[in-house]
Amino acid sequence: MSKYVDSILEKLKLQNPNEPEFIQAATEILSSLKIVFDKNPEYEKASLLERFLEPERVIMFRIPWVDDNGKPQVNKGYRVQFNSALGGYKGGLRLHPSVNLSILKFLGLEQILKNSLTGLPIGGGKGGSNFDPKGKSDNEIMRFCQSMMTELYRHIGADTDVPAGDIGVGAREIGFMFGQYKRIANEHVAVLTGRGLSYGGSLARKQATGFGLVYLVEEMLKTKLNTSFKGKNVVVSGSGNVAIYASEKVHELGGNVVALSDSSGYIYDEKGINLEHIKQIKEVDRKRINEYLKYVPTAKFFENGCIWTVKCDVALPCATQNELLIDGAKALIANGVIAVGEGANMPTTLEATDEFLAAKVLFAPGKAANAGGVATSALEMAQSSQRLFWSFEEVDAKLKTIMENIFHNIDDTSTKFGLENNFVAGANIFGFEKVAEAMLAQGVV
Ligand code: NDP
Repeated sequence: MSKYVDSILEKLKLQNPNEPEFIQAATEILSSLKIVFDKNPEYEKASLLERFLEPERVIMFRIPWVDDNGKPQVNKGYRVQFNSALGGYKGGLRLHPSVNLSILKFLGLEQILKNSLTGLPIGGGKGGSNFDPKGKSDNEIMRFCQSMMTELYRHIGADTDVPAGDIGVGAREIGFMFGQYKRIANEHVAVLTGRGLSYGGSLARKQATGFGLVYLVEEMLKTKLNTSFKGKNVVVSGSGNVAIYASEKVHELGGNVVALSDSSGYIYDEKGINLEHIKQIKEVDRKRINEYLKYVPTAKFFENGCIWTVKCDVALPCATQNELLIDGAKALIANGVIAVGEGANMPTTLEATDEFLAAKVLFAPGKAANAGGVATSALEMAQSSQRLFWSFEEVDAKLKTIMENIFHNIDDTSTKFGLENNFVAGANIFGFEKVAEAMLAQGVV
């Protein structure tokens, strides 16, 4: 029967020859699902996999905007509305020059299962543009965001599709996009999450992905090794939203983050990275990470080099896809890493993931470990519909419970299917089963 899964993957490769990231994500997911299709022959009869792998809708559009010199510029815009079996589409918008359809389809596919894992009624989507926010003025960012929303607004809606932030999209960009949506649609609704607190946002949304990652990894360490972050050295890649708040929670739990990075290189501070300096550099000044040495001259900056060669107990890749390759995995294992938690989406290559699993390193895949962001976005939507604001502590407590539940669900699932401690399989299977059930119930749509 798993021949069915193999044949669908082959077909997918033929039909999407220029989409390597999408094929990579599908390959990882399908390798875990063979066992599910063997147990459920009705899935093949219903052509469930073919339907699951084809987005319900892909919207592609032009984003024209005028730069500060008065020159018109054009970028590509996308929204992939992948699967609405569990609820309206939900997933971030990414602004980065590398954005293309392959990357957004991989992110959208992952998002379906991630959203299912949260236990909340949200379907999967993803969008973005190849616009590069780096070096742009606030006015350029505003004009770009307004132009993007001028097309996007007709495809999204509080009960249809609710985008959020991702790489290159933080509070500033969400604010500009929300303002334009409100102006055109004439409604003040939860059509975007990650909104500012003064106009419908939720406390703890900014921290949610990073905090959630650390809650899940802490639960994994406790359950599987009877230990915790306390006293552990931790390496975190990236220095954006996810990396900063994951690091903050590690410090709160008594761990020590010794390295952080951006696309220009990584910094190492054996005393533990001072996050107030990082927030100033990244959130306020929007500068490069080597600025840290101006605040802490004893720290080191490595322009060329691999952050994963830094000795640590726990590694948290929180930058981007395919940033932890086989050599990095080998270096981490040789240095005694005990756990890896993916804050980013698909940061670890398939080869590197297999290396961790073979070495029995605890490995928490992104679709489970970074689900705290979207889960808290759904909590933001719940507060908006009730016209209520919950306290930071209330939202944070709900987030912690959701992350601990996700860990136990994927742990129990991996054991149930005879794949103990393979949380990649546990997450794929647990996430998929609910989507499959909903798709079957809704007929051929
Ligand atoms: P940010 O834009 O805030 O930060 C991204 C960080 O990653 C920056 O430090 C950036 O460095 C670095 N980075 C990005 N692209 C590359 C690259 N090609 N090579 C090296 N470094 C790179 O994004 P987020 O923190 O929001 O997102 C990080 C990851 O987490 C992404 O994979 C995202 O999909 C995932 N994620 C985010 C969620 C959220 O709520 N924000 C939710 C779930 C997952 P530089 O500035 O130099 O580019």
